[in-house]
Amino acid sequence: MSTSVTAGRDVPVRPSEPVPFLDISGATEDVAAEVRLGWDELLRNGQYVGGTAVTRFEQEWAEYCGTDFAVGVANGTDALHLAMRALGIGPGDEVIVPANTFVATAEAVVLAGAVPRFADVDDSTLLLTPETLKAAVTPATKAVAVVHLYGQLPDMTAISQMCESLGLILIEDAAQAQGATWAGRRAGSFGAVGCFSFYPGKNLGAFGDAGAVVTSDAALNKLMLSIRDHGRMQSADGHHSHGVLGMNSRLDGVQAVVLSAKLRHLDEWNKKRRELMATYRELIDPERAKLVEELADGVGVHHLAVVQVDQRDRVRELLKERGIGTGIHYPVPCHLMGPYAQYADGPLPVTETAAHRQLSLPMFPHLRQDDARRAAEALNAVLTELDR
Ligand SMILES: *Cc1c(COP(=O)(O)O)cnc(C)c1O
Repeated sequence: MSTSVTAGRDVPVRPSEPVPFLDISGATEDVAAEVRLGWDELLRNGQYVGGTAVTRFEQEWAEYCGTDFAVGVANGTDALHLAMRALGIGPGDEVIVPANTFVATAEAVVLAGAVPRFADVDDSTLLLTPETLKAAVTPATKAVAVVHLYGQLPDMTAISQMCESLGLILIEDAAQAQGATWAGRRAGSFGAVGCFSFYPGKNLGAFGDAGAVVTSDAALNKLMLSIRDHGRMQSADGHHSHGVLGMNSRLDGVQAVVLSAKLRHLDEWNKKRRELMATYRELIDPERAKLVEELADGVGVHHLAVVQVDQRDRVRELLKERGIGTGIHYPVPCHLMGPYAQYADGPLPVTETAAHRQLSLPMFPHLRQDDARRAAEALNAVLTELDR
């Protein structure tokens, strides 16, 4: 199968229709009618911040994740920051963060007043492993922020056990993994908290910024409800009673309506992503491009389809010439970025090498199989050409 596509002679240099890296318009169309109905109701009841649309989505999201509670917040970074504060993480504490992640994971640790301790990742999954995690533990470690990057969970059986035996709080950054599972359990349901972003481009995305924290700890849920709303006590007469230092990170009804409508499509959309990933796995020449591997107990939701290739920037340019859009997640590891370099504790070779080799291929549920095939064939052709 892969031999016939590596030649790529039938791939036009400038195809009439480019294949975009990401296009969310199909998802928008799927829910537009339902969103309009929900927004009409919102205009009638005037519950713009909090209110019934938010409560409804929070219940639906907790149920979907298999947790008792969900707290809607303003974005994914707040979800992490607020959860860490509610868990008592602050000055003097270290939180282990994989260096290969979106900057927000590390940012939230620093915003909470704690210190990020960067860990390396595995070269085949580009995720934390029990070994890389253990190598980053120090006497000051209070928590681990596991990141389900690209929509896949690392070995959560081993990582949960390790956190328990070392007495570390487990936090899940599930911003890229809405609906992904490990051993049949959903992302977000393993840790003390599971933190989600609903940024428009995520697998479940709002029409603006939004986020949520899920938990099955009733006291923690109550504290997070209070912190997101200026520290207000969660009681009928609590409006002017600010018992803890809070913040303003409330979810608005405008976004909750969108999220409830989209949630009904999430499983079907994730299934499409898995089918597209299967096409990439079938067609891409594994000798020249290393697609992230899937672990046996995981079912990924492939927020991103990431390969590692030589001459990444050149490959990206040549694909662009052929009309194939790509992204890079992420070109600079967190421990080498300006604000976080002060926390770096030596080199992290796998992450640093991968940063020059990672390339994200087109991936969104409304991407046509034909177009994924074209992208895979173009990638093979470009890599063959560069090999000559
Ligand atoms: C998107 C994302 C976030 C942050 O979410 P925002 O809603 O943009 O604040 C955090 N972590 C990861 C891994 C993400 O992909």
